[in-house]
Amino acid sequence: MQPFTYDALPGRVVFGPGTARARLADEVSRLGASRLLLITTPRAAALARELGAPLGGRVAGVCTGVREHVPAEVAEAARQQAAGTGADALLSIGGGSATGTAKAVALTTGLPVIAVPTTYAGSEVTPVWGLTEGDRKTTGTDPRVLPRVVLYDPDLTVSLPAGLTAASGLNALAHCAEAFWAPDRNPVTALAAAEGLRALAQALPLAVKDGADLAARGDLLYGAYLAGTAFGVAGAGLHHKICHVLGGRYGLPHAQTHAIVLPYVLAFNLPGAPDAAARISQALDDAGLDPANPAAAVQALAARLGLPAGLRDIGLREDQIGEAAGLIEPAVPADNPVPAGAAELRTLLHAAWAGTPVPSLAGRVPDDAAVQAAREEAVTAEVLASFAGAAPPRYREVAQSLVRNLHSFAREIRLTQDEWQFGIDFLTRAGHITNDRRQEFILLSDVLGMSMLTIGINAPAAAGATESTVVGPFFVAGAPETPLGGDIANGAQGRPCYVSGTVTDTAGNPIAGARIDIWQSDEDGFYDVQYPDGRTAARGWLRTGPDGGYRFWSVHPAPYPIPDDGPVGDLLKAAGRGPMRPAHLHFKVDVPGYRPLVTHIFVAGDPYLDRDAVFGVKESLIVEFTEHPPGPAPEGRVLAGPWSRVAFDMVLAPAADQAP
Ligand code: NAD
Repeated sequence: MQPFTYDALPGRVVFGPGTARARLADEVSRLGASRLLLITTPRAAALARELGAPLGGRVAGVCTGVREHVPAEVAEAARQQAAGTGADALLSIGGGSATGTAKAVALTTGLPVIAVPTTYAGSEVTPVWGLTEGDRKTTGTDPRVLPRVVLYDPDLTVSLPAGLTAASGLNALAHCAEAFWAPDRNPVTALAAAEGLRALAQALPLAVKDGADLAARGDLLYGAYLAGTAFGVAGAGLHHKICHVLGGRYGLPHAQTHAIVLPYVLAFNLPGAPDAAARISQALDDAGLDPANPAAAVQALAARLGLPAGLRDIGLREDQIGEAAGLIEPAVPADNPVPAGAAELRTLLHAAWAGTPVPSLAGRVPDDAAVQAAREEAVTAEVLASFAGAAPPRYREVAQSLVRNLHSFAREIRLTQDEWQFGIDFLTRAGHITNDRRQEFILLSDVLGMSMLTIGINAPAAAGATESTVVGPFFVAGAPETPLGGDIANGAQGRPCYVSGTVTDTAGNPIAGARIDIWQSDEDGFYDVQYPDGRTAARGWLRTGPDGGYRFWSVHPAPYPIPDDGPVGDLLKAAGRGPMRPAHLHFKVDVPGYRPLVTHIFVAGDPYLDRDAVFGVKESLIVEFTEHPPGPAPEGRVLAGPWSRVAFDMVLAPAADQAP
């Protein structure tokens, strides 16, 4: 479940045949209104008077100046009439234009609106208002314009001619479809939209065939109500943006425009909105229509209802298409399921202008690559959103960045199912081979350069301080302490090697009492932990003396292969890379007040210095190990064979420089 925010809209609805005549007076009383301004069209004036009769003296005035698209001057006249009659409520009786005029008055006066709709516009349950000045239509949202009560009476829609029934019903169907991808959609609006779509698609052919079919008329009002509530919350998407321009700029009739454009928007958007496609198909199926291609099914429904096929049939000229596309483009919501630039809009509008059957359009618009990209992005967006509430913030940042980069890796290389399974098997093998003496994941981190990269990020260069390098998989806690000048070899085989140096700060001051952990391989290139007998050899720790000096005996290190009998070894083989590491000693230096140092010293002249399997070599860490003949040696020793010696001074950066 995607996180969502839902501002549910208030409002009371009263449904049923005869409602307008039987219940209107009660609803007016319920609102406490005593001076109503009745707003209607000249056509519905007689009906309005009939409905207003039971209200007696509570009708303070009747405004019959309603015109399509709520021209500003009509709104202004209605406002003046409301003020002149001292109205305390507005009663609209009619289609979307009558409701719209009442809303325009409510917008500036705050007067409550009672709506009695006679079409399927749905405007009566939305907080959206619209006003037209010249050829410019402005819309906005304001809770004050949302009618307080709506009386849905199918009796009042029986007079709606078949053509208007069809167009208005498809207009409502467009609200439903669009609620699946409009900017403020949520699961509840989708639910209302799916049920609304079903009711409309099922009832439309019946009501168009027999205008007096009250059951079908009731279902249409029910569908229109759901469509309006879904649209009122979800907002306008691509479809409404197109119709808004076509109606406002070129004066095309509202409902017919919606009916014609909808199949083309469905054909354009649904490939990028698989969930919407599935739910619309299901609703069409439930309504007894062909669910295979929703766009084609809606176009076939419109044709069956006798609606015009193309925008040219209702007055749009071909030479207006380019301008219309340019006007629509900036209004297209950024998260439309398929990116709609001016070129795509021109193609779509041209097909809608000509009335081209949508199946032939489905192959061309939209472009498959765009649909594919949108689908993939949607997966990433959903996963990123799932971490949006993760805490602490650093955890969220890390998780989201990991997802973003992992997904873009998969997209970049067009990862196949088999390859991903291969990767999972690889990690499974790494897990199975890992135990408390073998750490395949550190090896993996090392051979991928992640260990060195992380070290580089976290041990930023501090002038004069010794460089860091990888920890490697062979450090183990609990090594024995050795006195200064002692021997850490503890039986490890190899030529004796005497190691000494100092630990200072970056100003050259000695650091006494620093703990130095040392671990290394023997002459065969093995660490103690690689032997099965549990020995501890060629590892230990000591503290620097008062002069910051350290010294100890050990054995001359040897180059060695990192363990390559597991999945990491396979990786190296596949890359034609060797597993060898040049000979080295590990140091780990800790002392309060200084940044901990993890480093190696490498034996100068080692043949593997330029191809370390784990990328750990740094120029400053390559040190000369000198060879000495048998005889007297440091710490009072006299050796029977040759021995080697190395000196390495280490400089610690102050802890204040440490990365947080
Ligand atoms: P409308 O109110 O202009 O009515 C269309 C035609 O049908 C008119 O000629 C009208 O006289 C006639 N008519 C209405 N009811 C009739 C009936 N029962 N019998 C016979 N004739 C009848 O148009 P509409 O399609 O109802 O609504 C379209 C208007 O509503 C547009 O301006 C549109 O922008 C607006 N609208 C607004 C919203 C919103 O949320 N603000 C939502 C949908 C539509």
